[in-house]
Amino acid sequence: METETVSELMDHISEKKLEIALKINTTVRAEMGAFLRDRGFVEIPPVIFSTVTDPLNHPVYDPSFEYEGTRYALTKSMIFHKQIIVQKIPKIFTFSPNVRLEMPEKAKTGRHLLEFTQLDLEVKGATREELMQLGEELFIHTVSKVMEKHSEELAMLGRKLHVPAKPFKAYKYTEAEARYGPEFESILSEKSTDPFWIIDIPLKQREFYDREKDDEPGILRDMDLIYPEGYCEALSGGEREYDLERIKERILKKGQTFEQFKWFLEFAKGGLELSCGFGIGIERFVRYICGFQRIEDVHPFPKVPGKVSV
Ligand code: ASP
Ligand code: MG
Repeated sequence: METETVSELMDHISEKKLEIALKINTTVRAEMGAFLRDRGFVEIPPVIFSTVTDPLNHPVYDPSFEYEGTRYALTKSMIFHKQIIVQKIPKIFTFSPNVRLEMPEKAKTGRHLLEFTQLDLEVKGATREELMQLGEELFIHTVSKVMEKHSEELAMLGRKLHVPAKPFKAYKYTEAEARYGPEFESILSEKSTDPFWIIDIPLKQREFYDREKDDEPGILRDMDLIYPEGYCEALSGGEREYDLERIKERILKKGQTFEQFKWFLEFAKGGLELSCGFGIGIERFVRYICGFQRIEDVHPFPKVPGKVSV
């Protein structure tokens, strides 16, 4: 078992396609960072473990530990840290390592790693529509730069990309579900040649922290960006719930406890203003650009659900 893992590792790290993916990964990170810095965003350091992290909306194993009598968990996302710091610094981003110990079945999707990097950003006072526009510009900028700098590598992979036009198409979650059934996201992704949005995602499909629409209870002011050609989810984001009473109501509706989010709730007592943001998985972006089936092909030391890894 161990030996097999080591020899698999040797094969994997010698692959030409991994080297290409890592060169593209370098450009993706540099260009995304440059794009945001040019627009006045401030980069904040990542948080690796914390007293409070993303509850997520699906079951995962929970790596946590105690230090000097306090319980900490590895970061699933920096959602609460973003919402806190953006109150003081109005445009922030971070390349955040996230650990989500997914169930082994998730390996089948080709898009889950137990450890990945998310470009996480947040803007104070912004609306969803403004962040959708930012997301489209960020996508277009990054893909254009990769095409310009890596035409040779993309040709070696046999990957043909094009730069999509804005605005991207947007589907309302419940309408898309009614028309295409529960698998609508992958059906639409497979049919599409350009990225598109899913908006107005119902509360039951999402975590408590995205803001509910005033005129449509149960529906959130949030969005997912979906890659074309069957590559599925690129980013998730939304406007955040900022009223303390509404935040508490939403935690209870999700069957969660105030204790879980104590540190965030303490901060929120001081008053929060509206913010909006999103998180985009870097490995998934590189996988899409390279046109790979398996996300592990973009990472030298991939943590694949259900598998032993280095
Ligand atoms: N917290 C979300 C996630 O990690 C991203 C976001 O809403 O900003 O999926
Ligand atoms: Mg998500």
